[in-house]
Amino acid sequence: MKCMLCESPSFTHICSSCQETFLTPSIYKRKISNNIEVISFYKYKDIKEFLHTKHTDLGYYIYKILAYNSFKKFADSFEFEGKVSAIPIDDKIQSGYSHTAILNKALQSKNIKPLYNKLRAKNSISYSGKSKEFRILNPRNFELTDFYGEDIILVDDIITTGSTLSQAVQTLQNKGKNVVFCLTLADASLK
Ligand SMILES: [Zn+2]
Repeated sequence: MKCMLCESPSFTHICSSCQETFLTPSIYKRKISNNIEVISFYKYKDIKEFLHTKHTDLGYYIYKILAYNSFKKFADSFEFEGKVSAIPIDDKIQSGYSHTAILNKALQSKNIKPLYNKLRAKNSISYSGKSKEFRILNPRNFELTDFYGEDIILVDDIITTGSTLSQAVQTLQNKGKNVVFCLTLADASLK
């Protein structure tokens, strides 16, 4: 196949040289309302064309490449006393795959155990382009399936206002879980 960016022959949709140019991750940190740290690897504006492939057939491959360049590298160097569970936000399957489950899977490592189908939003109304007020008035109503493991990393693809993650953190804390931090691919608040 050809690299979708430079059109040179490639084994993957984005060739290794373009992955190095465009997908070398950074570490961006911010705090959400529960005083939980959120670590992101890219500025939303820098990878938005890739993120827009979500829910298409191509998105499956692109999210795997994004996860390999960021989540996997992070997990490989992550040190923790004991095991921490990684929980994706609302990993329901759309168009044949779940984009947050792909990110979560890349965290599989010595200290991180990815779990699936644990945290589901009963209200899946779109927050895209909506105000913070709208988001507060239309809570996600997360439902948690009980699981073994106390320390959690929460996983999502994009952080905007942080209200989805805050609500997810609250749901886990209400069940006595310890959210160590959150991981997202991209932060939409970064200029
Ligand atoms: Zn290329």
